[in-house]
Amino acid sequence: MHNFNAGPSILPKEVLEEASRALLDFNGTGLSLLEIGHRTPVFTAVMEEARALVRELMQLDEDHEVLFLHGGATLQFVQVPMNLLDEGQVANYTETGTWSEKAIKEARLFGKVHIAGSSASTGHTTIPKNLHVEAGGAYLHLTSNETIAGTQWHQFPYDIQQPLVADMSSDVLSRVLDFNRFDLIYAGAQKNIGPAGACLVVVNKNCLGKIKRPIPAFMDYRLHIKEGSMLNTPPVFAVYVILLTLRWLKKMGGVAAIEKQNQEKATLFYTTLDSLPLFQGPVAKEDRSSMNAVFIMQDPKLEKEFLQTAEKEGMVGIKGHRSVGGFRVSLYNALPLSSVQAITSFMRSFANKKG
Ligand SMILES: *Cc1c(COP(=O)(O)O)cnc(C)c1O
Repeated sequence: MHNFNAGPSILPKEVLEEASRALLDFNGTGLSLLEIGHRTPVFTAVMEEARALVRELMQLDEDHEVLFLHGGATLQFVQVPMNLLDEGQVANYTETGTWSEKAIKEARLFGKVHIAGSSASTGHTTIPKNLHVEAGGAYLHLTSNETIAGTQWHQFPYDIQQPLVADMSSDVLSRVLDFNRFDLIYAGAQKNIGPAGACLVVVNKNCLGKIKRPIPAFMDYRLHIKEGSMLNTPPVFAVYVILLTLRWLKKMGGVAAIEKQNQEKATLFYTTLDSLPLFQGPVAKEDRSSMNAVFIMQDPKLEKEFLQTAEKEGMVGIKGHRSVGGFRVSLYNALPLSSVQAITSFMRSFANKKG
């Protein structure tokens, strides 16, 4: 099978094999990973190694803390403003598609939102370039990769004089970035670093504790930091599979090595797309995502046949999101180049037949 699912999505085969072994007998304990206490040394070692690997792969400095939380990226739409945006304050948001719109909606419950840049006028086929960031804002939020629209930030507004917050759910650890220049990064694990059920949060502790509104304990990043992501029972299995995926990533050569592979995959895919008039990519070339490639067909009547034939040949998960239609091919870290070779040669032969 060639798995192009957008999320939950492909994981390395060796990770799945090791995870399935841990379900029956975790590290020779004779017990399943699902049957042991989260405060036992066997599990706290999992949490510590996962945290350490994130630090190492992202090259984080001492100010940045690593958390594994429940509730997915969607809870972070709430938790971020709850911790950083005081009543009467303004937060800057960029509006680039479905995911950032959801984040904006939640932030409005906590303070004022200023839209510092929007791609709405292009139907979210671009990334806004000239931002108008309101000075003195609590932070600037952006969605580094819009999973549904197929756009990605390739340059970041590091120079703003306020904390920078990024939803990196669908491209975290897919490319080298100076992660320390972000004050808060969050990423639901199920796109690029593991299964559903855990959300990675990397936060600069210096931006916490500045607001007056009381924060419920479970929503307070400071308490999660203090308790080492064990304020309550953590999503143990999800954290373990994240650990295995991080080990795999390190073995592959780390973020720089995976970025090189991701670029090779994206280049092959988009070069093929651009060479075949039968297919069209709506996203502006300079803003295309290396993780989620979105395309439509010149003749929409052919879409059904294309999809069905692709599925027959073992290529799954290519149907576009229901809100945009067409197709979407996800090229996450774990997707091998051979799968991109398979779909691009299928596109070429389909185009030849319809030629
Ligand atoms: C999938 C996704 C989300 C939502 O993640 P959940 O873990 O389901 O809450 C948020 N933002 C982006 C960019 C996503 O791709």
